[in-house]
Amino acid sequence: MSKMFQRKIVLLGDPGVGKTSLVQRYIFDSFKKDYMTTLGLNFYVRTFEYPESKVKLMIWDIAGQQSRRKIGLRYLQGASGAILAYDLTKEETFDNLPGWYDDLKEANGKDVPVIVVGTKLDLAKSNHLPLAYNVKKLGDTPAAKANLIFTSAKTDTNVDAAFNLIITEIVSGLIPTPDISPKLLEEIATKILFFVKKGDAWSKVALNHIEKVAKKYALEVETIDAEKDPNIAEAYGITALPTILVAGRHLVGIIQIAHLESIMHQIIENK
Ligand code: GDP
Ligand code: MG
Repeated sequence: MSKMFQRKIVLLGDPGVGKTSLVQRYIFDSFKKDYMTTLGLNFYVRTFEYPESKVKLMIWDIAGQQSRRKIGLRYLQGASGAILAYDLTKEETFDNLPGWYDDLKEANGKDVPVIVVGTKLDLAKSNHLPLAYNVKKLGDTPAAKANLIFTSAKTDTNVDAAFNLIITEIVSGLIPTPDISPKLLEEIATKILFFVKKGDAWSKVALNHIEKVAKKYALEVETIDAEKDPNIAEAYGITALPTILVAGRHLVGIIQIAHLESIMHQIIENK
């Protein structure tokens, strides 16, 4: 039986910044220049399935052009995450983000994961406007440290990426890192797992070499940031970086990068 989670995401930001356009682009892949504003509230549902769990996300959008004062805390209650949206062409909408965050926190009695989304990138660019963003104005709210992304619902720029950012943040807290069981290893098609430290110069050189060998033997290469995914690295018994591992029907285990080519040769010859 898979576990079912239901989580709520709210879209916050001043009237007119483009919240509805953003969510409609994400859900319906469309951009309507003029649409009727309905009363109350709209919400959209998206379900994500993982090996042992299902996550149902409800994305809440304030209908109409309501101001912060009118919305009230009820809309914000029970949110597991929020998109703080501001208009890149209107600085005051950025200045109002801390206020939106305060409401979110007050309604939930605790900090809630957020991302900051600067909207209407197309407009800012075509008008040659400087992009409004001054992190100091976010003070010590978590928004100051949150992921920041610039979007255009009109040109469909970074809209999926923005939703993916907040969804990943919510889901990563729910879904356990899978156990690397012998069974799982069997299921992995023969491929090279490459454990690296991000930004390490040697890792880059090694990756070049690995990719060449992989191409020769038609193998897939998967690069794993061992510091970001320490559980996976630990499960594989990785103690030093960079390290490669050949997984699949022919599990070789940890091998020296310099030996990769000769070992792959042996594996392929023995098939
Ligand atoms: P909301 O009040 O925050 O939900 O904002 P809306 O989604 O209703 O958008 C307000 C206005 O901005 C509408 O006229 C939209 O067509 C326009 N708009 C929204 N997103 C964009 C965008 O990415 N680019 C441009 N050029 N206009 C946008
Ligand atoms: Mg709206």
